[in-house]
Amino acid sequence: MNNKPVAVITGASRGIGRAIAISLASEKFDIAAIARTVESEGMESLAREITAKNVAFFPVGLDIACTDCQDEVVKNILGRYGRIDLLVNNAGVAPLKRNDLLEMTEESYERVMNINLKGPVFFAQRIAREMIYLGRQISDYRPAIIFISSISSTRTSVNRAEYCISKAGLSMASSVFADRLAADNIRVFEIRPGIINTDMTARVKDTYDKLIADGMVPQKRWGYPEDIGRAVASLARGDWDFSTGAIFDISGGLNITRL
Ligand code: NAP
Repeated sequence: MNNKPVAVITGASRGIGRAIAISLASEKFDIAAIARTVESEGMESLAREITAKNVAFFPVGLDIACTDCQDEVVKNILGRYGRIDLLVNNAGVAPLKRNDLLEMTEESYERVMNINLKGPVFFAQRIAREMIYLGRQISDYRPAIIFISSISSTRTSVNRAEYCISKAGLSMASSVFADRLAADNIRVFEIRPGIINTDMTARVKDTYDKLIADGMVPQKRWGYPEDIGRAVASLARGDWDFSTGAIFDISGGLNITRL
């Protein structure tokens, strides 16, 4: 069995997940990086960057929405490393098309809910069971699960309601997992990013450039994937030992309810 802690990050090929994987590698976690396919320039360059930090890198292909595929993936990761110390449920998508709530289709609703909510919930369930088992095998084992939700958990956007609904559900998922797993010594946290400069926001970059310049974000700047990576590293280090179910807004103050 690995003598180093192991972090599993979903959606690690790009954006926020990639920054989280790099940040955790700097904390000396061995990495299992999940994306839909392992054969991409993103995963290959991530492998180079992670292994340069002298930790192990294991690329794993999984469509997180495929709950039937998750068991085999967990077994493969355990086969490679023998343990999982941290799960970062980061993979997520926006609707393919922004539609007014009254035009939202069932197809788009199901796609977004399956990837953003159902998949992460059952992946957390599968890995939590394993963490409970590992807790009896490994001394000094400090497992944690982190859900990457969004400012959209609590703020509405009427042209991407399915995204907001999925993230609100993910926030509750974080709370119920935290409650259920507290006595098993598994900490569960929610990170709520604000507006982060990634592929997901590329389509609306000009709109947000203007809104940010006009002061919508109190700290008056875009967030970057590394902002989230640093927050995850702080939680992963164990600095928040007497805390579970907590919500961390990493949004430049967008969470503040202004008059
Ligand atoms: P991104 O740049 O679009 O990257 C999305 C990642 O998720 C990619 O690695 C992608 O991998 C993976 N992914 C997508 N569908 C998947 C699936 N079905 N199964 C497995 N992996 C899948 O997005 P991001 O901005 O980094 O967002 C990451 C998370 O942060 C998401 O949950 C998002 O909702 C949340 N968030 C983002 C923002 C923002 O402003 N960007 C704000 C708040 C919250 P492949 O496509 O390579 O398979």
